[in-house]
Amino acid sequence: MHDFSFKRGRLYCENVSVDSLVKKHGSPLFIYSHGTLTRNFNELDKALAPLDHTVCFAAKANSNLGVLRTLANAGSGFDIVSGGELQRIMAAGGSPSKCIFAGVGKTEEEIELALKKGIYSLNAESEPELIRINKVARRLKKKAPVAIRVNPNIDAKTHAKITTGTYENKFGIAFEEVEAVYDRASKLKNLHIRGLQMHIGSQLTEVEPFEKAVKKVIPLAKRLVEKYSIEFISIGGGLGIVYDPALESGDAKWWRSPKRKDLLTPKKYASKLIPLLKPLGLKVLIEPGRFIAGNCGILVTRVEYLKQTGVKNFVIVDAAMNDLARPALYDSYHQITPIKQRAGDNLKKNQISSDVVGPICESGDYFCKNRMLPKTGEGDYLALLSAGAYGFVMASNYNTRTFPAEVLVKGNQAEVVRKRQKTKQLWASESVPKWLK
Ligand SMILES: *Cc1c(COP(=O)(O)O)cnc(C)c1O
Repeated sequence: MHDFSFKRGRLYCENVSVDSLVKKHGSPLFIYSHGTLTRNFNELDKALAPLDHTVCFAAKANSNLGVLRTLANAGSGFDIVSGGELQRIMAAGGSPSKCIFAGVGKTEEEIELALKKGIYSLNAESEPELIRINKVARRLKKKAPVAIRVNPNIDAKTHAKITTGTYENKFGIAFEEVEAVYDRASKLKNLHIRGLQMHIGSQLTEVEPFEKAVKKVIPLAKRLVEKYSIEFISIGGGLGIVYDPALESGDAKWWRSPKRKDLLTPKKYASKLIPLLKPLGLKVLIEPGRFIAGNCGILVTRVEYLKQTGVKNFVIVDAAMNDLARPALYDSYHQITPIKQRAGDNLKKNQISSDVVGPICESGDYFCKNRMLPKTGEGDYLALLSAGAYGFVMASNYNTRTFPAEVLVKGNQAEVVRKRQKTKQLWASESVPKWLK
């Protein structure tokens, strides 16, 4: 479920029309729903209530301060992957004591910052990293709270670029080796071994891989409790969302109200995992990013031109792969709809097979191909749905294009939570060498 719906033919985010927002703040524009964010968070949080648990939102999915604050207010902890993200969490009013720090390449500076700020746990991904954390902690005269990321070698059955839990991936320490690494880490005096972590991949739509991975690591977790009194197990993020409610191409009805049919619901997830985890008696962390933020956001874009070639109808819009990279990166599907519906839009005769493309000079710069969409024209606005996770955060300035603005909506209120970048800002930190002047 999300809070974008048509009322009297106009797309709304909660109680604010998308049309009014794009007129006021320009295009392209990211719009986020406060209600969707908090509902997604609460749904997961409630489902896990039988466990001593913390939901740690994966900040990399959407790190806008307004979004982070919304979740901090809801009681979320955070999964972070850089020192920059830690500083963002603090700028948004979140607490480092509810942050866990993942990532294979933590620098000494990042480790130092995390320790000074009182991070809950550094989730180490290799033995050299543990040695480095110990060294930094010794210098700071601290005991560094650490968990080790185990790679359970379970295929998450998702897109290759977002699978992380098999031995083909760079993440974590192999299941067969990890216990020996714990044993060696326990001899490093400035480490406090606090937990066990894993994360097998992203956009999982079935619970089975999670179940398999948890079952596989439970005996290990038990031994770690006995040997090192670990306090927590983090089972990672990865819960998938519905990107394509129709799930069939060429359907005459391009707009479908979002229903979580056959999807990994928090209930289903919790009902399979709680019985496995509860007997451990450990604190349980989960690290969802996409599940919480994915459906909370849309990207609105203006139609600039219609271009017909012999075989194709191109709808050229003012957003591009630099604003939303997912289709170019992962071939991913985003539902696309005009923000105003007209009578008869659902009739085949009023639709046209469309390639919605951006203005960037790359063939990968497209949002959909050969999709039946209502006919649109210059100046119309389209919304790309489910753009709340891995959307703006992956934006770049490629082609000297400015970052779009971001707006957060709550009920009737809407506020710009990131101003549109100004073109001059793009080269403000650049200079021409003196010897060229
Ligand atoms: C990216 C990431 C997540 C979040 O993944 P989602 O698929 O967005 O839920 C969680 N944990 C770690 C360690 C990650 O790198």
